Amino acid sequence: MMSKFFKENFILLGIVLGVIVGGVIGSILPGLGVKLGFLGELFLNALKMIVLPLIVVSITLSIIQLGSARNFGSVGMKTIFYYTITTAVAVFIGIVVVLTINPGEGGGAFAGALPENVRAKEGFSFIDLLLSLFPPNIISAANEFKILPLVVASVLFGAAFSKLGGEGRVIEELFSAVNKAIMKIVQWIIYFAPIGIMGLISYRIGIAGGGEAVADLVLQLGKYSISVVAGLLIHGLIVLPVILFVFTRRNPFIYVSQLSKALLTAFGTASSSATLPITMKCTEEDAGVSPKITRFVLPMGATVNMDGTALYEAVAVIFIAQSYGIALSPTELIAVFLTATLAAIGAAGIPEAGLITMVLVLQAVGLPIEGIGLILAIDWFLDRFRTTVNVWGDAVGSAVIEKWEGGGEGEQTLTQFQAQVG
Ligand code: ASP
Repeated sequence: MMSKFFKENFILLGIVLGVIVGGVIGSILPGLGVKLGFLGELFLNALKMIVLPLIVVSITLSIIQLGSARNFGSVGMKTIFYYTITTAVAVFIGIVVVLTINPGEGGGAFAGALPENVRAKEGFSFIDLLLSLFPPNIISAANEFKILPLVVASVLFGAAFSKLGGEGRVIEELFSAVNKAIMKIVQWIIYFAPIGIMGLISYRIGIAGGGEAVADLVLQLGKYSISVVAGLLIHGLIVLPVILFVFTRRNPFIYVSQLSKALLTAFGTASSSATLPITMKCTEEDAGVSPKITRFVLPMGATVNMDGTALYEAVAVIFIAQSYGIALSPTELIAVFLTATLAAIGAAGIPEAGLITMVLVLQAVGLPIEGIGLILAIDWFLDRFRTTVNVWGDAVGSAVIEKWEGGGEGEQTLTQFQAQVG
C-alpha cells in the first residue's frame, strides 16, 4: 500500500524534495545555490525547447479535430468568456484585499532603479499588442519566444487544414505522431524536474543573498507581500476550486493533486509558458481532460489567461498609489480594474512579465512608472506565487470548458491511462 503510493508519486515526492533542498541550499549556502543554477537552466531550456513545437502542433491539431468552424467557434468563445470572467474576478479580489489591508499606508518601503525593459515600455499600448499578433516574420517572433503570434498562426493554419478535407488528414496524422513524440519527451523532462527545480530555487535564493536576505526583503515589504499572497490564496484556494466543483463536479483536492507537478514547476520556473508542456501532460494524462479541449485551451491560457498576474497588478498599483499618499477615486479604481485585466492578458508567460505591462495600469491612473521601483526587489518572489495561480486557472479552465462542451466523462488516473496505452 505504502510502496504503491511511493511508486505512483515518486516524481512528485522528488519535486517536493527538490523545492525543499533547493530552498535550504540557497538559504544556507548561497554561493553553492548559485553554482547549482545550471541544473535549473538545463531544465528550463529543455521545457522551452519543446514548448514552441508543442504549441504549434497542439493548437493546429485541436482545430483540425474540433472539425467544423462551428465547434471551434463554440470552444473559442467559451474559452474567451471563461478567461475574461475569472481574470476579472481575480482583479476584483485583488482590489478588495489591498483596500482592506492598506499595505502602502505610511509611505513606501524602499525604491530601486527601474530596469531598462520596464523603462522601454513607457509607451506600451494595446495597439502594440494587436500589432504583435501578426508579426511580419513568424520565425523571428518564435526566435524571441513570442508565443501569442504563434498561437494566432496555428489557429489560422488549423482552420485552413480543416478546410482541405482529405489532404488535411495527412497533416492530422503527422501532427498526431509528432504530438505523441513531444509528450514522450515531456515525460523524460519530468524525470529531471526534481533536480531542475532544486537548481532553480537554490539559484534564485542564492542570488538574492541567501535565506536571511530573502526574509529581510519579505519583512520589509511584508504587508504588501501579504496582500498579494492573501489575494492569490483566496482566488486559488476558494474561487477556482468552487468554480471547478460547481461546473464539473470534479473534486478540487484530487484535481490539485493531479496537477501538482505542473503547479510546482510553475512555482519553480515562474513561467506559465515554460510550464505548459507539463500542464498539458498532467491535465490530459493524470486528470483525463480531453486532449481535444486541452490542446487549444491550455496554450491559449498560458499566453492570455493570467488570474494571478491580474490580481497582482491591481494590488501592486494600488499599493504604489498608497505609498505616494494618493487615494484613488472610484472612477480610478474602475480604470485599474479594466487596465489590470488587459495588462494581464498582454503579459507574456515568462518571469516578471507582469512588471512590464503594469506600466499600462500606472499610466491609466496617472501614477509615475518610477513607482514600480518600490516593488521591484520582491517581484521575483511574488512572481512564483502568481504564476502558480495562473497555471491553476488554466487547468481549471480546461476542465470547465470540457464539461461545458458536453464532455468530462473521461476522468481517469495516470495508472488507468498507462494501462490503456500499455
Ligand atoms: N511570470 C508570470 C507567468 O509566466 C507572468 C507574470 O505575472 O509576470 O505566468
